[in-house]
Amino acid sequence: MTKTQKETMISVDNLHVDFHLPAHVVHAVRGVSFDLKAGETLALVGGSGSGKSVTAMSMLQLLPYPMAQHPKGSVVFKGQNLMGMNQKELCGVRGNGIAMVFQEPMTSLNPLQTIYTQIAESLFLHNPKTTKHDAKQRVLELLELVRLPRASERMYAYPHELSGGQRQRVVIAMALANNPEVLIADEPTTALDVTVQQNILELLMELQKKLNMAILFITHDLTVVRKIADRICVMQNGEIVESGDADTVLNKPKHAYTKALLKSDVTGTKQPYKKSAPVVLQADNVNVEFVLKKTFFGKPKSTLKAVQNISLTLKQGQTVGIVGESGSGKSTFGKAVLQLLEHDVMSVNALTFEGESILGRSSQEMRDLRKDMQVVFQDPYGSLSPRMTIGD
Ligand code: ADP
Ligand code: MG
Repeated sequence: MTKTQKETMISVDNLHVDFHLPAHVVHAVRGVSFDLKAGETLALVGGSGSGKSVTAMSMLQLLPYPMAQHPKGSVVFKGQNLMGMNQKELCGVRGNGIAMVFQEPMTSLNPLQTIYTQIAESLFLHNPKTTKHDAKQRVLELLELVRLPRASERMYAYPHELSGGQRQRVVIAMALANNPEVLIADEPTTALDVTVQQNILELLMELQKKLNMAILFITHDLTVVRKIADRICVMQNGEIVESGDADTVLNKPKHAYTKALLKSDVTGTKQPYKKSAPVVLQADNVNVEFVLKKTFFGKPKSTLKAVQNISLTLKQGQTVGIVGESGSGKSTFGKAVLQLLEHDVMSVNALTFEGESILGRSSQEMRDLRKDMQVVFQDPYGSLSPRMTIGD
């Protein structure tokens, strides 16, 4: 099929989203329109808070209604307006016609159920007549489709037993379970390491070709857009400020915001640090071994070597980057240095902070130290208490 013959799958027309908060109304999306055609990848690009996710959630009517409202607009999927559909009709469209993949795979997966149970559930939900045998076949087929290594044994694993990239593969398998024609992917690779991100992007492109899916790909990352987009819509403050085919938007941007986005894409150079600066942190031969199983007497029976013989010297004003694939031990090493791990799994020759050994300090002593030695984690929600205000 040539480009002009492509069938329109979804038409978003003049979409508005208001959030009615106690004190005021937030106009999060203001008059967004675009078409998504069969087999194409449309990238919705914009900074944080520009309204990308709210647009995506509106398409499946997943917003917190009635706090959220659509004063104007329509979302038409294969001739049917999804706006104003009842829950039952929407359920038929979600997963069957249109499927969604979110940024953080853990939010889409149930930690208490095996991968098999979760994928099979979406099969049973959409076709209650599915037999157990067919479900097993199909789950295996899906996991092989998304290239989960050793799929037949991994399908009985729990989400925490998989790496971040593998979990996202499982989420994609779940989304594909009922052969959707449209896939909405909201920053599906943002939480992943670069090498894993590349693999997931390749997988999505390969699946798109195989299954002729239309993909709405939401991202703030222009490097990703360059790799995958056929067309681009640029969003700012709830509006689409520029749209067109990928080449034109990336190479001949018209709008000032698109130009600014493309400029910020170029990475700067780092600040130099003084080579003579004093050493702040020194770790010598850090080893971390997790105890997976214990004997009846509490002795380690099976262990996993997460960090092996890593040494690090960090000087004042210096930044040391620790790079590696998901599961390679980066976070564990960081936690070991901060002594945030159980002592019985860690061994280290020497660990000094500002010239003093901090090996074997109590958690209270470490807490006092932590005003000088702070950590920022990957997931902000994990660090913030949901019951306290930002100021507290
Ligand atoms: P993006 O995905 O582009 O980062 P979002 O679509 O999440 O941005 O958010 C767009 C705007 O809508 C932001 O100003 C955000 O604060 C607001 N918003 C999103 N969800 C809610 C909500 N549940 N209640 C109130 N405001 C919201
Ligand atoms: Mg978002």
